[in-house]
Amino acid sequence: MLTGDFSLERSQALFAEAQQLLPGGVNSPVRAFRGVGGDPVFIERAEGPYLYDVDGHRYLDYVQSWGPMILGHTYPSVVEAVVAASHKGFSYGAPTQAESQLARLVIEAVPSVEVIRFVNSGTEATMSALRLARAYTGRSKIVKFSGCYHGHADMLLVQAGSGVATMGLPDSPGVPSQTTLDTLTASYNDAAAVEQLFATYPNDIAAVIVEPIAANMGLVPPAPGFLEKLRELTQQHHALLIVDEVMTGFRVALGGMQERVGITPDLTCFGKIIGGGLPVGAYGGRREIMNMVAPAGPVYQAGTLSGNPLAMAAGIATLQELRKPGQYELLEQKGQRIEEGFQKALRDNHIQAQFVRVGAMFCLYFSEQPVNNYEDAKRSDTRRFASYFWSMLEQGIYLPPSKFESCFISLALDDAMLDETIRAAAKSFSTL
Ligand code: PMP
Repeated sequence: MLTGDFSLERSQALFAEAQQLLPGGVNSPVRAFRGVGGDPVFIERAEGPYLYDVDGHRYLDYVQSWGPMILGHTYPSVVEAVVAASHKGFSYGAPTQAESQLARLVIEAVPSVEVIRFVNSGTEATMSALRLARAYTGRSKIVKFSGCYHGHADMLLVQAGSGVATMGLPDSPGVPSQTTLDTLTASYNDAAAVEQLFATYPNDIAAVIVEPIAANMGLVPPAPGFLEKLRELTQQHHALLIVDEVMTGFRVALGGMQERVGITPDLTCFGKIIGGGLPVGAYGGRREIMNMVAPAGPVYQAGTLSGNPLAMAAGIATLQELRKPGQYELLEQKGQRIEEGFQKALRDNHIQAQFVRVGAMFCLYFSEQPVNNYEDAKRSDTRRFASYFWSMLEQGIYLPPSKFESCFISLALDDAMLDETIRAAAKSFSTL
């Protein structure tokens, strides 16, 4: 897919080696660039808005490690905090004050969270939140939405987005069918379907888990009233509402999407930004529910490295920066600039596409129809997306290598860089 002088020779050599050692040459599927039909770029280092690859190219980074690096890479106060923490030891497996400090920062920002438990990934957060919801309600069924990705726990690998969608895997072998028997699915933005599920299983549904903006099938915002209706239905049927803000938490507002919509979930899952780029996840919510988690209560959940001092330090420094006044206004302005530029470039080149944005997240579907759910997202043009992706890469813009992923804007991207991105997009559209 590459043209001209742009060479990824060294990346290709490293990928050949990695393929002998790692399944598919990677440790997470979407990194392999299968969604755009080529070999991945190997990264050497990152700084501020930039990624640097092993072939000497520099890119403006719109992946941000899939979301966490909202301040940009190597942000000074975050680096200092991690370095300082590392001099005090990497891990103790014993309580530290840093855990309470990060807990307090999340709890102050997200009023629905009264008590929080830190884990090591988003996968652990959703898996544990669902175990808790099942224990709390004494019910076993859960409802998820097709195209929403909540990590790779067995019970959640049903109609999942992200890498599962990119690879075209409807489900995964190795997931016993008994494990997913209690996983009910509905189409995103279809509250009537959820109402129907509650009518069919009035006393069996423990929880509805939802991405408050679906960001693992591209980017699909909730239709007006959708999340509110889920809140109403779960309350009415004594089930829990679990909002998975792994992607949206501290991204679309300090209080996440639940702040923007004005809903109060029972449990919330976090990841990505709260760890500032180190491995962290978390789940939290009402005290009465969270106090069922061991050792306060009987629901077992544990972790050797949970609350890791380095990860807590990175998270604290990141959230302290995001709490400063004006940060989300700035992210919104940057998002608006990209949106206006892309929309104009699409119009100028007579390209029928759907540009979708919420704050500093955006995505481009090569589709003539608006995208409201997974079925719509799947119909968008994969080949056109791939051409756009490779053209942007050659022009120094690093986008997610799959049409099922969202782009992220960091605070490190200034107006000139955003304009450079828009010019690159316009050029790529002119060749489609
Ligand atoms: N939930 C959502 C909404 C996600 O986007 C992701 C990962 N992209 C996860 C859960 C899983 O997180 P992790 O990859 O850290 O396990």
